[in-house]
Amino acid sequence: MTPERHFPSHYRAARAAFLDACEAADVGVATRTHPSARGIDGEPLFLDVATIGPRDARSALLLISGTHGVEGYFGSGVQTGLLREGVAKRASTDGKIVLLHALNPFGFSWDRRVNEDNADVNRNFVDHALPPANAAYDSLADAIAPADMAAETVKAANTKLRAYARQHGAFALQAAISSGQWRHRKGVYYGGGHEAWSARMLKDLFRDELSHAERLTVVDFHTGLGDCGAAEMITEDLPGSEAYARAKSLWRARLRSSEAGESLSAPLKGTIDKAAGGWMAGGTLTFAALEVGTAPVREVFDALRRDNWLHAYADMAHPQAGPIKRQIRDAFYPDTREWKRAVWNHAAEVVDAALAAIA
Ligand SMILES: [Zn+2]
Repeated sequence: MTPERHFPSHYRAARAAFLDACEAADVGVATRTHPSARGIDGEPLFLDVATIGPRDARSALLLISGTHGVEGYFGSGVQTGLLREGVAKRASTDGKIVLLHALNPFGFSWDRRVNEDNADVNRNFVDHALPPANAAYDSLADAIAPADMAAETVKAANTKLRAYARQHGAFALQAAISSGQWRHRKGVYYGGGHEAWSARMLKDLFRDELSHAERLTVVDFHTGLGDCGAAEMITEDLPGSEAYARAKSLWRARLRSSEAGESLSAPLKGTIDKAAGGWMAGGTLTFAALEVGTAPVREVFDALRRDNWLHAYADMAHPQAGPIKRQIRDAFYPDTREWKRAVWNHAAEVVDAALAAIA
């Protein structure tokens, strides 16, 4: 099967294909249903976990899709493709494989990066009584996520952002916007005001299935940063650490530390990577995000900001709703054969290296 066939057209199709592939491979699935949120067509939302191999295996590989909702087309397509191409045969007597499908099913269904609370699941793992500060975001909040999209408002906002970039550098602006903020619930990269449902489910999964592994490797699939079809493996561990060395031995030249400034990503706060280390019962954790590029940063940012405005200040009845939803989907999921083949190849290589480590 050509790899582009594995990639889904929407959340429900993605889930159906994933479940079909699990069934065909005789892989068991545990489903958690969202207690209240609904999808864009009113459908219920699910987080599905397929587990391959012995429950008490000493090594485990966890593959996560849809942490950022709309980025789930990629991760889900990879998971389904891996199942169709026989990944179930690659678990060993001492190594299991866990596929977490659609960590943020709300964002996947609605073509949003965030969840039902407008929260970024990968900035949600903080102490919500005392969340981190982001003074740079505070100073630019209205310019980053304007309350109206009138041409003159956006122009003034962009002028302010450009001035910040001129003074502090383009990467400082990227960090101000994307490292996470916990004050502006109608803003972007908002880490949420409480523990998200997805975060709780992930913590439960670790407790029940993963925290007792002696060696756990995690790949979290993301899109939206980098040249279209390019890829990097982003670790939050620092060069010189054991975790970085383990990741380097698996992913070699692909590996980039965001904390060390090697990555296209700014250093982030409240991430799964940072939280998961604390959930381990004593074994080692090797964590990286496979980030694949889609479109220029400006285009991705414009899509995010317009989508944020639509959901925070308007609604789906707005005449711009259709174009905005199309724009954000395209910004995170280029629907072309070339892109799908390129990102499939990156993912297959990265997963192959991780599988070799649990064999
Ligand atoms: Zn992402």
